[in-house]
Amino acid sequence: MTDLTTLGIAAIRDGVRDGQFKAREVAEAFNAKVASAKALNAFLVETPEHALAAADAADAARAAGETLKPLAGVPIGMKDLFATKGVATTAASKILEGFVPPYESTVSQNLWNAGAGMLGKLNLDQFAMGSSNETSAFGNVISPWRRPNDTAPLAPGGSSGGSSTAVSAGLAPGATGTDTGGSIRQPAAFTGISGIKPTYGRCSRWGTIAFASSLDQAGPMARDVRDCAIMLEAMAGFDAKDATSLKLDVPNWEAALSADLKGKRVGVPKEYRVDGMPAEIEALWQQGIAWMRDAGAEIVEVSLPHTKYALPAYYIIAPAEASSNLARYDGVRYGLRDLPEGAGLQDMYAATRAAGFGDEVKRRILIGTYVLSAGFYDAYYTQAQKVRTLIARDFERAFEQCDVLLTPTAPSAAFALGEKQADPLAMYLNDVFTVPASLAGLPAMSVPGGLDKDGLPLGLQIIGKPLDEQGVLNAGLAIEQRAGFTARPQAWW
Ligand code: GLN
Repeated sequence: MTDLTTLGIAAIRDGVRDGQFKAREVAEAFNAKVASAKALNAFLVETPEHALAAADAADAARAAGETLKPLAGVPIGMKDLFATKGVATTAASKILEGFVPPYESTVSQNLWNAGAGMLGKLNLDQFAMGSSNETSAFGNVISPWRRPNDTAPLAPGGSSGGSSTAVSAGLAPGATGTDTGGSIRQPAAFTGISGIKPTYGRCSRWGTIAFASSLDQAGPMARDVRDCAIMLEAMAGFDAKDATSLKLDVPNWEAALSADLKGKRVGVPKEYRVDGMPAEIEALWQQGIAWMRDAGAEIVEVSLPHTKYALPAYYIIAPAEASSNLARYDGVRYGLRDLPEGAGLQDMYAATRAAGFGDEVKRRILIGTYVLSAGFYDAYYTQAQKVRTLIARDFERAFEQCDVLLTPTAPSAAFALGEKQADPLAMYLNDVFTVPASLAGLPAMSVPGGLDKDGLPLGLQIIGKPLDEQGVLNAGLAIEQRAGFTARPQAWW
């Protein structure tokens, strides 16, 4: 019999529906895979019983002749930024150690309503701040990928590095991610999988631990474009509990998938040709352009003149919002409380936050409070907001000439763990291609395009017009079909 853990979401859904195998067998196979991959440190909590219960419900529904739910029998991994009722949720921070939410996030609830089960909670950069998973308080995730004849551990990308690792190593057919400045797309690119950040407001933020509220968006990470479409349909939708949730129906993205790009115009932004970009990334980009042309698209060069200001603007706006969002962790309401002998309330706040937050989180809080402080607010925060508007306008203008944009996802393949950790600016630079679409709230996806000279995956990014996830998915499918990317990490764990 085929190893069920080699199957993706669509194949599992169809196989359960058609009676090729039982949902319970699928859940058992993935539970065993998760249990055997502890060396990757992808899961913070394993919830095999949750996956089994959902599987049994799917099998029972089928036995009763009921129409199966869209994700019946599909077990997934849940980034530990989503509050899950009765299951520890920490955002990979000591400050939330021991926090067991009494409520379920809307995105996770939507997935359970669609019939999915949960394999466990996935490790991440602490509060989703990072690009390598090294800011997790519970040890970093290790990428399943390695360079040839080299056992140096590589970064799985971040912040959704547990999710990228779980999917890429075959521990889950799909996983949730969140993307504030690239945290779905960059880890997907580093591990040879697909991931889409939808338009801001498509997925409810309710019950998702907040990092930067005007940027945070949930999305799926999976083996291919179709699986992303299926999972996103289940995750998205209007939610009255999130004031920024879009009151729109969720399209049937899977049904409208088409790799035929005839009549479409693909924009190539010239400002994304940054100094020092490896020749292999440039070559892959050119290859992607050729694939788009082959799929019937017309290629147009476009300009996004404010691109170079996106990264500095992001690293003002995101920390500013984070410093405000993280004010709630004070030792009173959630998780950790450090109350030194004889201490007063202020001392408790200070001691709790000093002990609970990691270095990167503290750095962001310091930057955020600084740029929001009375003397510097206009010089930094107001200025960054103006830049954000200009960046959004750049995209609007570009989309007068084209339907989607094609760029590399990241300026490098996966780097080694430890390589950039000492230099926050070098780490931030890795987000150079993903941050602009986040600032503009646009849908954007990464699909694997090929391997570099070390055999490591490289991703191509497609950025779409607001609400045009379909256009993004379809362009992604056109690349997927031409790239024929089948490389998988060799199991060493
Ligand atoms: N790497 C970026 C950061 O550290 C993006 C993180 C994210 O998208 N959550 O802020």
